[in-house]
Amino acid sequence: MLGTPPQLPQRARVVIVGGGIIGCSVAYHLAHMGWKDVVLLERDRLTSGTTWHAAGLMVTFGSTSQTSTEMRKYSCGLYGRLEAETGQSTGFRATGFIEVAGDRDRLEEYRRVSTFNRHLGIDVHEISPRQVKDLFPLARTDDLLAGFYVKEDGRADPVGVTMALAKGARQQGATLLEGIPVTGVTQKAGAVTGVTTPFGNIEAEYVVNCAGMWARQLAAGSGVSVPLQAAEHYYLITERIPALSNDWPVLEDPGSYGYFREEVGGLMIGLFEPVCAPWNLRAIPDDFSFGEIQPDWDRMGPYLEKAMSRVPISASTGVKKLFCGPESFTPDLRPIVGEAPELANYFVAAGLNSIGILTGGGLGRVMAHWIINGRPDVDVTGMNIDRLHAYQANPEYRRTRTVESLGMVYQCHYPTHTMQTARGAKLSPLHDRLAARGAYFKDVSGWEAPDWYAPPGIEPTVERLSWTRQNWFPYWQAEHTAAREAAILMDMSFMSKFVVEGRDAGRFLNWLSANHVDGAAGQITYTQWLDVAGKLAADLTVTKLDDERFWVVASDTAHRHVETWMKRHLGDHHAFVADVTSGFGQINVQGPRSRELLQAITSADLSNEAFAFRAAQYIDIGFARVLCIRITYLGELGYELYVPAEQTVHVYDRIVLAGERVGMKHAGLKALASLRLEKGYRDFGHDIDNTDSVLEAGLGFAVDLEKPGGFLGKQAVVAEKAAGPLRQRLLQILVTDPEPMMFHAEVVRRNGTPVGYLRAASYGHTLGGAVGLAMIDAPSGGPLDQAFLDAGTWEVDIAGTLVPARASLRPLYDPENKRIKM
Ligand SMILES: Cc1cc2nc3c(=O)[nH]c(=O)nc-3n(C[C@H](O)[C@H](O)[C@H](O)COP(=O)(O)OP(=O)(O)OC[C@H]3O[C@@H](n4cnc5c(N)ncnc54)[C@H](O)[C@@H]3O)c2cc1C
Repeated sequence: MLGTPPQLPQRARVVIVGGGIIGCSVAYHLAHMGWKDVVLLERDRLTSGTTWHAAGLMVTFGSTSQTSTEMRKYSCGLYGRLEAETGQSTGFRATGFIEVAGDRDRLEEYRRVSTFNRHLGIDVHEISPRQVKDLFPLARTDDLLAGFYVKEDGRADPVGVTMALAKGARQQGATLLEGIPVTGVTQKAGAVTGVTTPFGNIEAEYVVNCAGMWARQLAAGSGVSVPLQAAEHYYLITERIPALSNDWPVLEDPGSYGYFREEVGGLMIGLFEPVCAPWNLRAIPDDFSFGEIQPDWDRMGPYLEKAMSRVPISASTGVKKLFCGPESFTPDLRPIVGEAPELANYFVAAGLNSIGILTGGGLGRVMAHWIINGRPDVDVTGMNIDRLHAYQANPEYRRTRTVESLGMVYQCHYPTHTMQTARGAKLSPLHDRLAARGAYFKDVSGWEAPDWYAPPGIEPTVERLSWTRQNWFPYWQAEHTAAREAAILMDMSFMSKFVVEGRDAGRFLNWLSANHVDGAAGQITYTQWLDVAGKLAADLTVTKLDDERFWVVASDTAHRHVETWMKRHLGDHHAFVADVTSGFGQINVQGPRSRELLQAITSADLSNEAFAFRAAQYIDIGFARVLCIRITYLGELGYELYVPAEQTVHVYDRIVLAGERVGMKHAGLKALASLRLEKGYRDFGHDIDNTDSVLEAGLGFAVDLEKPGGFLGKQAVVAEKAAGPLRQRLLQILVTDPEPMMFHAEVVRRNGTPVGYLRAASYGHTLGGAVGLAMIDAPSGGPLDQAFLDAGTWEVDIAGTLVPARASLRPLYDPENKRIKM
């Protein structure tokens, strides 16, 4: 206990739990943005959790997420000016930063990343091993291929930064109290009402859980799932090394598991070992303050040896300290941020995966904007708490996954990599059948989903991850071609599925949807849901089964977002939302011969006249009754079949048998990606996100401005239309050289000037080159139309090489939609 605690206020607009860097940054930004009625409660003293012992690396280079990169840049800027504002030093020093590449794959990765980072304003330069040596003379550089140097990056003092944020928050009117543990969060009717503490309760409109590694257990008490896990995290500090200067840049060598910088005259060697150790699975002790963990020398010995070999003098210098402290890691190495799906006005900002100091300034700004305005102003699809599921908070899941997630920080970030731990959590009813067919599975929101299939007699293994064509490239190509020329079967049981029923179900969904979804029964409609600002909230299909029953289908990652969006907007409507994801398998049969295939196993008339594009009806297949919807997400004639889970295997077997006669192949998610990107179909969270308007995303065709009753976000769409040319538009980009591969974040140039980057990309086996979708800035004053596209010379910067490209507003594959409607 820290003396007598001050009198608690009875109420506050916002209560923030936790006085680490994140909580203080949220308080600082809320107060700066005008919300002064903010109370931060810290259990012990500010910084006493994880923040106090962070290494304070401030590194803007390295991410292909725009949101993360912008947060890093913002933090550096903020920490640089906080001292002038508050009088409290942040210790921020732009000593520079070098990331070294010791093999060709990492060189490729960093070249790709540096192109993207430069586009976002980071002045990163590729330098030679000789130059690395000049900047960090104690490094061994004989085995290196290159370094990537940012002069403006450097280091900060995490305690100094946090204290400066706290002081700045107080100067702006926020109240920060130490020695007050929050014991619970009160709620009423599904929304937060305040917090409880041993010293009294505080009523609040909003609670922000910034409790670091305690966030999971605090949230669990309110029924909120925050699946983060603390893990051992190490750095070693050597005795004094006279030749070392504190002006040298921070050096990072992921290939040796280590980063290096000067610390009080010695060398700090920080580690991200490939196999890691979770800490305290059950609960983090309430009294763990300014704490350390007993280091495990045996486990860390080999990694330390490898890291030390990058700066050899460290091996012959005495060790002053091997420090081990806990840090929170998440299942996908992305932070857990946003409003909890389980409880309205309960915000979370935790699970920082060892970049909480680096991103903390930016994250505080994002959170404050989100809370004050009710919506974020950056793409949060990758970090939104609602991407995660309750089962991921299970101790067994956390124990298993955390072993891998910390180590992922320093792995080469191959774009086709899938997590290897905690697998087999969710199996489709077809799993064993698909495994027997040679499926190579990837983790899709916990589901085992086929990525591609090996031909008979070949093991479905990835021989070597790379940035080029891998061993499975020809299998993928064959699946893609079968979809365009014959037929494919895809198991998409992981899609999230909802039944919305009730007298007002149609009215309710039509108000949520930008498109008209309450027309004739037996029809599917592709639509977006928009927020009040007209930005995308979801991208999905709504099928009207009858006047009071609708079938809503969204992607796996949007599962909880879509469900929460519906529930939070229900109001007084007589409508009920049921999640039926687990109750139905989804089998996709697509391709020009899909009708012929299915017609052979059903008595329903599948002719174009009887069963047109967008029609939905129950059909018989064998002993099963199946909801069959004629729709496609890859640009061919095709059908989605929704089958009761217990009959999915039965229906699958019938399809496979009939498929033999039409050359049907099984296809995985790689084929789906290449097919849909050739056709320019969007994927929310990949190429479109919550910062895009429906018009910028090129989805104006799916907006019905005339329908009676209007829809949520309509005013914003009307206003945007009236405002003249769009600020930016999503385009399809195809490189004309058949060789290079694109994945994400490659920078697009028009007449030599960078104008955007690939949000998502794949290889277009039919178009004959890498293809993707890029959000492109409009020319100043003029429309971004096809004439503007045709008048320019387009290139894509792929790892520093400029590759000629084409840009198109219309789909490059089947722009007339002829194949879909045949
Ligand atoms: C060895 C090591 C090196 C690192 N190096 C870097 C680096 O170089 N760069 C970088 O960016 N990051 C680094 N990190 C990560 C960084 O330290 C964290 O990401 C960051 O400190 C997380 O901040 P936080 O505010 O979320 O958590 P914390 O600092 O843990 O703050 C949470 C606070 O909540 C309080 N709290 C918990 N429960 C309650 C409750 N019920 N009521 C009231 N208060 C409560 C705790 O006391 C604590 O003060 C490093 C971490 C480690 C372990």
